[in-house]
Amino acid sequence: MNILERYHAMEYGPAPEARTEADAWLAGRDFGKALFIDGGWKAASGGKTFETSEPSSGKLLAKISDAGAADIDAAVAAATKALPKWSASSGYQRAKVLYAIGRAMQRHQRLFAVLESIDNGKPIRESRDIDVPLAIRHFIHHAGWAQALDMDFSGHKGVGVVGQIIPWNFPLLMLAWKIAPALAAGCTVVLKPAEFTPLTAILFAEICERAGVPKGVVNIVQGGPEAGVAIVNHPGIQKIAFTGSSEVGKIIRKATAGSGKKLSLELGGKSAFIVFEDADLDSAVEGLVDGIWFNQGQVCCAGSRLLVQEGIADALIAKVKVRMSRLRVGSPLDKNTDIGPLVDGTQLDRVKGLVAEGARQGAVCWQPDAVLPSSGYYHLPTLATGVSPANILAQEEVFGPVLATMTFRNTEEAIELANNTRYGLAASVWSENINLALHVAPQLKAGVVWVNGTNMFDAACGFGGYRESGFGREGGREGMFEYLSVKLPLGPVIKPATSSAQPVEQSDGGAIDRTAKLFIGGKQVRPDGNYSLAIATAKGKLAGEVGLGSRKDIRDAVAAARACKAWPEATAYNRSQVLYYLAENLSGRTGEFTARLTELTGANAKAAREEVEQSIERLFLYAGLADKYEGRVHQPPARAVTLALHEPVGVVGIVAPDSAPLLGLISLIAPALAMGNTVVAVPSEKYPLLATDLYQVIEYSDVPAGAINIVTGRTAELAGVLAKHDDVDGLWLFADADTCSKAEADSVGNLKRVWTGNGRSLDWTSDEAAGDAMLRRAVEVKNVWVPYGD
Ligand code: NAD
Repeated sequence: MNILERYHAMEYGPAPEARTEADAWLAGRDFGKALFIDGGWKAASGGKTFETSEPSSGKLLAKISDAGAADIDAAVAAATKALPKWSASSGYQRAKVLYAIGRAMQRHQRLFAVLESIDNGKPIRESRDIDVPLAIRHFIHHAGWAQALDMDFSGHKGVGVVGQIIPWNFPLLMLAWKIAPALAAGCTVVLKPAEFTPLTAILFAEICERAGVPKGVVNIVQGGPEAGVAIVNHPGIQKIAFTGSSEVGKIIRKATAGSGKKLSLELGGKSAFIVFEDADLDSAVEGLVDGIWFNQGQVCCAGSRLLVQEGIADALIAKVKVRMSRLRVGSPLDKNTDIGPLVDGTQLDRVKGLVAEGARQGAVCWQPDAVLPSSGYYHLPTLATGVSPANILAQEEVFGPVLATMTFRNTEEAIELANNTRYGLAASVWSENINLALHVAPQLKAGVVWVNGTNMFDAACGFGGYRESGFGREGGREGMFEYLSVKLPLGPVIKPATSSAQPVEQSDGGAIDRTAKLFIGGKQVRPDGNYSLAIATAKGKLAGEVGLGSRKDIRDAVAAARACKAWPEATAYNRSQVLYYLAENLSGRTGEFTARLTELTGANAKAAREEVEQSIERLFLYAGLADKYEGRVHQPPARAVTLALHEPVGVVGIVAPDSAPLLGLISLIAPALAMGNTVVAVPSEKYPLLATDLYQVIEYSDVPAGAINIVTGRTAELAGVLAKHDDVDGLWLFADADTCSKAEADSVGNLKRVWTGNGRSLDWTSDEAAGDAMLRRAVEVKNVWVPYGD
């Protein structure tokens, strides 16, 4: 066929990417010494290796050193040794190193791309145009943060030695997302790539050698779960940053419970791709190709659930099928390839198994009529229709080129279906009506929402999930916080509460007996079990009795908090007014609360009055900040703006300490309320009467029913119930170390955001225990991408 004939036939000819350089690189390395520790190349101390092979052919590429616990020890020792100098170096010095890494990567951009495609199987078009440029952008962007640290994060410093574990679907990009912010923050790192895709990390380590990264600042250890476990459990590591499956994320959450390690988890997803009937269907189809067939669907934020409005479903599906028939499945090194092989045979078997099970559960699975290459782990793009919301293809992360389709009738149903998942990573909304799209976006439980687009990323814009998609953000300002810590002013060590079952001496009588109940859904209610707890005065006399709350009372309180829509939906101005009103009403009862504090804690009148006045001041502070702790607008290098919105975390459980029992409780409740969260609070076990005295103040202050719920009782028991409750989104816990540790371990059900004092209280009187440090915990940052232009 001559060129003219080819032109008329409009057929693709092969367009292979040369692999000579990559093969030469592969041939020139000793992969038996692939551990990059303390600036040198080491074999695994146990002499073990693992194999990495080429997904497009199954052929062996290299046998790579397989790190064990002793190698992780060596890497952590190197990172620890390098830490003081690196963290003390100036922002400018660190910025120069980050910049040098970015520039060196640019010089070897093509080699990175080809190696990535060979090792992972992703089409060269993607590794060349997306993965590698974005990875470079991360280093260059974070060079700026290194220098801006003192200006933008005053009082913060790097957390120390960081352990980072990444998956195989974006090997170089995930490495960049992890290492760039860590280095900018002054941390040193021990990073473990995934065992399917070790190669580009080895090339990256070579770049570090050349770019002047000081020895021990970046350590890259190759290996599998054994090495991962050793990193997670290593006592010399102060933070774990993990990207991978929700299953392993939960194991890590449990393993780090009580260790005091900072933790960020970027986990799986089942993102909704919502197409309204007024969408531009051709654009939506192209978006879908990117949303689900990018990287063979092996993308955490893949738009794997297509939700389409009923009236246009047939038309859209017809267009999708035509487009699917034109997707080119083939060699990842062909520049025309849309769909390469999956990463490994095990992954292929898993995807096939899920598709078969989905079909067994009633889905109709359609594939285009294409011939697969004779070798390699290929799977045809697959469209599942007739998928019920409970179908495995609608619920489970397939991590393959499989799209599950469902229809909806109206906006409310679209939102409900979209949120009907335990994940919450991303979503995509298609409508030509921007008002509709921006009405829907805030209602989606997802960390990233793309309007009329998909898979848009940038180093300046945070990325990360809600719910079982994990917590923490990568990228931008919020991503930097993951590698920084701020010293909050510590209060006393909290001892386990001693049982107050012993009889408390009767007081002298005279006053009318008052029954302190629980406060749930805006009402004072009796505890479900109808037991009470005797509360002693400082002198050991009976001060009163409070309800002994139980699991069932927490359940009712959480239900009331969840049902309260008036508070999260109220304007910030409105919330601010209510908080001011609470302060006003508390101030009217200063004398009464002062007397109560003195009676219970034995504090002298002056100190007690000061605590009440500080509590009022704190309410005032958060009333004022309610409409000021706002998000940002990013301007990524794309024709789009990204709205980084501050959204409430949701239902927040609060367990308050005994120290400063009124101020501590209010210092925790007020910021949570200010940002629109609803609260289930367990007050100090020893001094709960300060909380029960607040009921009337709350009742007079226009607080909507369910916004504040208070359950008195035993701290350890109630904290445990809150930690296990899957409808609690966040838990702030100031209790003894054992209760804190258990709560962290028990939080894995829905991966709620847990903040504990690790057995210490805070000095609540200090200004540092108020303001931004608290408000940041009270919000999730949602990044909404809004493209513009015709
Ligand atoms: P995985 O959880 O099996 O493995 C991830 C990494 O963890 C690997 O390096 C692995 O060796 C290591 N590991 C395995 N068990 C471990 C353990 N017990 N302790 C410590 N480390 C352990 O995930 P995967 O199959 O490599 O990657 C796919 C998953 O990653 C998908 O669920 C995907 O959604 C998720 N992912 C999420 C994001 C995000 O940003 N949210 C990005 C990419 C991928």
